[in-house]
Amino acid sequence: MEKIIFENEFTYKKFMESGKESEFDNLFDSAVKKVKSEFGAKHPLFIGGQEVFSTELLSERSPINGTIIGYFQKGTREHAKAAVAEAKKAFAKWKQTGYKERAKIFLDAAALFSKNKFELAAILSYENAKSRYESMGEVDEAIDFMRYYSVEILSNKGFSRKTKMPQSSVTVSAGFQGAPSDMEKVIIEMKPYGVFGIIAPFNFPISISVGMSVGAMITGNTVVFKPSSTDNMSMLTGYKIYSLLKLAGVPDGVFNYLTGPGSEVGDELVSNPDVSGIAFTGSKGVGLGMISKTYAAGHQKVFVVEMGGKNPAIVSKYANIDDAATGVASAAFGFSGQKCSALSRVYVHESVKDIFISKLIEKTRNMQVGNPLEKRFYTGPLISENAYKVYVDSVEEIKKSGRILYGGERVVSQESGFYVEPTIADLKHDNKLFSKELFVPILLIDTFKTIGEALQKANGTEYGLTAGLYSKNKKEIREFTDGIEAGTIYVNRRISATTGAMVGLHTFVGWKGSGLTGKGTGSKFYLQQFMHEQSISVTQ
Ligand code: NAP
Repeated sequence: MEKIIFENEFTYKKFMESGKESEFDNLFDSAVKKVKSEFGAKHPLFIGGQEVFSTELLSERSPINGTIIGYFQKGTREHAKAAVAEAKKAFAKWKQTGYKERAKIFLDAAALFSKNKFELAAILSYENAKSRYESMGEVDEAIDFMRYYSVEILSNKGFSRKTKMPQSSVTVSAGFQGAPSDMEKVIIEMKPYGVFGIIAPFNFPISISVGMSVGAMITGNTVVFKPSSTDNMSMLTGYKIYSLLKLAGVPDGVFNYLTGPGSEVGDELVSNPDVSGIAFTGSKGVGLGMISKTYAAGHQKVFVVEMGGKNPAIVSKYANIDDAATGVASAAFGFSGQKCSALSRVYVHESVKDIFISKLIEKTRNMQVGNPLEKRFYTGPLISENAYKVYVDSVEEIKKSGRILYGGERVVSQESGFYVEPTIADLKHDNKLFSKELFVPILLIDTFKTIGEALQKANGTEYGLTAGLYSKNKKEIREFTDGIEAGTIYVNRRISATTGAMVGLHTFVGWKGSGLTGKGTGSKFYLQQFMHEQSISVTQ
């Protein structure tokens, strides 16, 4: 196979660079019409390549206006058991498939996703209520993951290596610790574990689902994939992922598609002794719950787990305030604060608080909320009524001990979804809202006097996912990069204070309560987590 160099997909950027923005919009608008005409179909589970039907259906509606997207099977514990059995059966052959052949399948899959990217983005906009730019960025990220992991496994030759016995002039006949053995040939192989349960969140249903699934499969494991299926649903994107991977040549049983409640089918994947590993992205409560349940039951499993965040930014007196206000507004309010990397706390130096807040409000005012299928709206509705309740309760809580500086109300819309204003609030750091992940567009602001105090406040939660600093002072920048307890950090980034990690450029990794393994996605150490080493010594 010829040498392949990883390049990001960058769809929107490429259209812009070639002066074809209107073509991008036309393609997206046509895709919206096409996917809508296909809504309302009934979709099966896919277990061992076979269509499987349950006795109950789940109906998925768009958060934009309740449009029916489709009907999906309410999988049960028995379906999860059957899917695990098929994945276990398929593992025997898949693990023998060479890494080059596996990489070829996922490079072909990347090409297929790329060919269908406008339809995938349109589905995502309906299902997640993302703007066209956010949706296309996410589809690009899924394609990037497939290509990046393919290039990684190819360029590292499957991660296996030979080692060489150091030459010695003496031959030792009896064995004791430290004695070299002659004629010993050693190869260290990285081998797959077996069946992985892939449990995905609602908010990046294409990129995170693809990233975790391909990470497991390209390293030789087989997968039972469960998209988010309760309340915040993303079952149609899951179905499309299944269809495109099958078309690309993923064999039956290697990737099984299982819709159904986390508490039942997800729990079965966690409890089933034939599942060797779980790759999970979601909230901290669910993530830690599944790990503690497994070990409390005396079971052994590998967990590749990414969890929530309560991401801070620090705005220093040495900041470019315009950059800070721009980056803070986009990080806090893009996709209505529902990115795991979303900014939800700002600590601003007391001397620049007023100017920063006035600029921030000015930027936020331009972020119009409405039907995200329309180009003019920056962001759409919240994912569900439950998210809206969190928003309302949090605004009430803020009013008790702080001040709403901007927003705080439901937006009047022609659509029936839960559209809310981006909200900026003045509140003290000791309020409980400063440490609780809300996942709605509420940005809390407090002040600081010294950078040490800002860092202490920024580090004062159980999470450690992303963080940002705005300061032109080199000493402050060093103190921040040395002292901040977060895996993905940015300094003086105008486009966004805390969001927008790119495959191959950044690594996306959570510290503390935001992640388990300390190894990030879209980076050098991700794939190794899906394999265990075996040292094979053969003396002829
Ligand atoms: P969630 O409520 O934790 O759900 C995540 C997945 O877990 C869903 O598929 C859910 O299934 C399943 N699940 C629920 N209970 C389960 C159980 N007892 N056993 C097994 N599986 C179970 O998270 P979410 O609301 O979808 O996503 C938002 C959260 O994800 C936020 O906390 C966000 O910060 C985090 N996130 C983190 C990252 C990161 O990279 N660190 C990225 C994205 C999102 P059902 O929904 O079908 O019941």
